[in-house]
Amino acid sequence: MGSLRLDQVTKRYDDVVAVNDMKLDIRDSEFISLVGPSGCGKSTTLKMIGGLTTPTKGSVHIGDREVTHLPPKDRNLAMVFQNIALFPHMNVYDNISYGLRVRKRDKSEIDERVNRAVGILQLEGMLDRMPSELSGGQRQRVAIGRAIVRNPDIFLMDEPLANLDAKLRVHMRTELQRIQRQLDVTTIYVTHDQEEAMTMSDRIAVINGGELQQIAPPLICYNEPANLFVAGFIGSPSMNILEGETRDGTLRHKSFDIVIDTSTANIPPDIEGVTLGIRPEDVYPAAIDSELASPSRRFSATIDVLEPVGEKIFVYLKADDGVEDFSVGDVDDIEGRHESLLMSVEPDYDIEEGERIDVVFDRSKIHLFETISGNALDHGIDDRPTTESTPNKNVS
Ligand code: ADP
Repeated sequence: MGSLRLDQVTKRYDDVVAVNDMKLDIRDSEFISLVGPSGCGKSTTLKMIGGLTTPTKGSVHIGDREVTHLPPKDRNLAMVFQNIALFPHMNVYDNISYGLRVRKRDKSEIDERVNRAVGILQLEGMLDRMPSELSGGQRQRVAIGRAIVRNPDIFLMDEPLANLDAKLRVHMRTELQRIQRQLDVTTIYVTHDQEEAMTMSDRIAVINGGELQQIAPPLICYNEPANLFVAGFIGSPSMNILEGETRDGTLRHKSFDIVIDTSTANIPPDIEGVTLGIRPEDVYPAAIDSELASPSRRFSATIDVLEPVGEKIFVYLKADDGVEDFSVGDVDDIEGRHESLLMSVEPDYDIEEGERIDVVFDRSKIHLFETISGNALDHGIDDRPTTESTPNKNVS
């Protein structure tokens, strides 16, 4: 049974709290990524699952066994790390079978397991090669082969693709997904790369400062981020984060106002600040707002920089005169909090740097957060289309 549970796990190193009160409930055969910025506690979490370090508090359970204090060899896990440690003087067969040979398994059983792994990893015909005769991707597959032949309940992978070049990394992502589906083994995958986590996982666990922020399928984290951190971290380019305040059922920002339906919003009346999040693909030139079911009122901005990236153009917008920038407040540790507002448009959209332009938000795609706690607030934005067009700031 490859289900896994972390029950209020904390790991402290002197005065550093590497992982704080982590709760994870992972189902058998799930592919879960632990994702977050460097130093957020991903590897420490993985090491506690693997038995390489012991929690200061809390417990770890694999299937229905508590394993918190068991050594790694008694947990039936297999680990794959970033640094591929193959024996340079052994060929592929000997590298893959090493662990089984040390455990003195039967030759026929070893052959059977190696052949199965080699088939899954598409390493046929390479069993006699030495590591120096393999490409980076092939070496990584041999390392995974060593893990596969052990028939583990759970795979633990710590940035296994980080040392590969960009093209190979993308290829290996697909390979790993295929291998995991075929083996149907629970996999815990550590990465700082949100795109890698988004493309590979059944669910992603977003971690920041040692604390779990959200665990959900990738698109839920993207479309319904639980808080400002997840909103800024998941998605590339990042969500635009704009601070404002609510008064009389309206979110007021220096550049625009958005009407909020207070009857459905869960916005506490005494709330101090509300932060608005909108992804670049949900900001539109007002000229094409007829395509939107629910455009906000338009407001004007100046095109600062254009970045054509092939399938779209990223448009950096500057706020109008008298408004220094689109962000307010002095919190600058959240990705997406920029001086400019980012909009993405189709590559054939006719647009020039320095031009003034009216833009709208797709109101159904607006996210709201409580500024101080960062927690997501219920939408509650009136989604009736606004036909009136008032290209002045503050009344848009
Ligand atoms: P990540 O894998 O997300 O980059 P880590 O789990 O490696 O983060 O580290 C989390 C925090 O714990 C960091 O602040 C790191 O410096 C600290 N840390 C990790 N291992 C140790 C250790 N052995 N001794 C002291 N501090 C550590």
